[in-house]
Amino acid sequence: PLILGIETSCDETGVGIVRGQTLLADAVASSVEEHARFGGVVPEVASRAHLEAMVPTIRRACETAGIRPTDVDAVAVTSGPGLAGALLVGVAAAKGLALSLDKPIYGVNHLAAHVAVDTLEHGDLPKGCVAMLVSGGHSSLLSVENITDGVVPMGSTIDDAAGEAFDKVARVLGLPFPGGPWIDKAAQDGDRLYVTFPRGLTSQRDLERHRFDFSFSGLKTAVARWVEARRRDGEDVPVNHVAAAFQEAVCDVLTRKAIDACKDRGFEHLLIGGGVAANSRLRAMAEERAAAAGITVRVPRPGLCTDNGAMVAALGSELVRAGRTPSPLDLPADSSMPITEVLNR
Ligand code: ATP
Ligand code: MG
Ligand code: FE
Repeated sequence: PLILGIETSCDETGVGIVRGQTLLADAVASSVEEHARFGGVVPEVASRAHLEAMVPTIRRACETAGIRPTDVDAVAVTSGPGLAGALLVGVAAAKGLALSLDKPIYGVNHLAAHVAVDTLEHGDLPKGCVAMLVSGGHSSLLSVENITDGVVPMGSTIDDAAGEAFDKVARVLGLPFPGGPWIDKAAQDGDRLYVTFPRGLTSQRDLERHRFDFSFSGLKTAVARWVEARRRDGEDVPVNHVAAAFQEAVCDVLTRKAIDACKDRGFEHLLIGGGVAANSRLRAMAEERAAAAGITVRVPRPGLCTDNGAMVAALGSELVRAGRTPSPLDLPADSSMPITEVLNR
């Protein structure tokens, strides 16, 4: 079946088209530049940008895929979680499209879509795997038996998300927003061992209560303090080294806990998704540590890790293939859609 997916949960207007597990088009228009001077995503600005970008992005995706909208068998859309006003634009567009084409609509969970997108690159998901979702708004370890049946949360961040930590530390270092890619780049020429920053929730005592949870707020503060102290002493801040040492702390904790989660569940596959999964050090460290533990890592290519429409189409496609009943045409935009709910009904 031919599925068109629409994503508008944050600042990317994404329209993806897939046939089965084959990606035909992935058009993304981002309003990130408009938010940069505010140092974070401004909801009203994002909603307006989605409104303006929606129709052109749908057109662009159809052109790239070489299809007409009437060829589409089903429409999938992110119904949550995300910014309420932003979600609303995508849901309204998807409803209009489904209604006019007289095709079913699937209101899907953005987080589950970050997991499902891997099918476009590596085919069917493993029968059992741990999915580590690391993005600007989330950092979670999920147990996934079958993505169309939902996911079971094992742990998540108790404060900042991993991407949020990257963005905040980047700001401290004077790097542009969003900071993740810039830290990644700066760290290439940095010394990871230059400073040892704290690894949150890894002490024996913390592990008892928070074995699969994360905490990045203390790390962020530690980096800020370190940088401030340097500046106070009138010394230069070695941005590359600090970026590398910070990145090392994040990746160390993420990969350690992810592999421990696989062992706990008896799963041999680790899937990584979300914007931070684009991080080069995270990918390398996960590969290395997983291999040593006999675990296979699956990470989509960086362009599919950050928000896009293809991931929504991919999850829609899996739901259609599993024969799931579509969502009602009055499906809501649910800004706090629980991670356990894959399909809005
Ligand atoms: P959510 O899925 O939680 O709603 P989101 O909408 O913020 O998150 P994503 O595109 O999934 O969007 O993730 C964006 C985050 O990923 C940002 O915090 C960004 O800094 C981070 N990021 C992107 N590329 C990299 C990278 N190479 N290294 C580290 N972080 C990165
Ligand atoms: Mg974004
Ligand atoms: Fe996302």
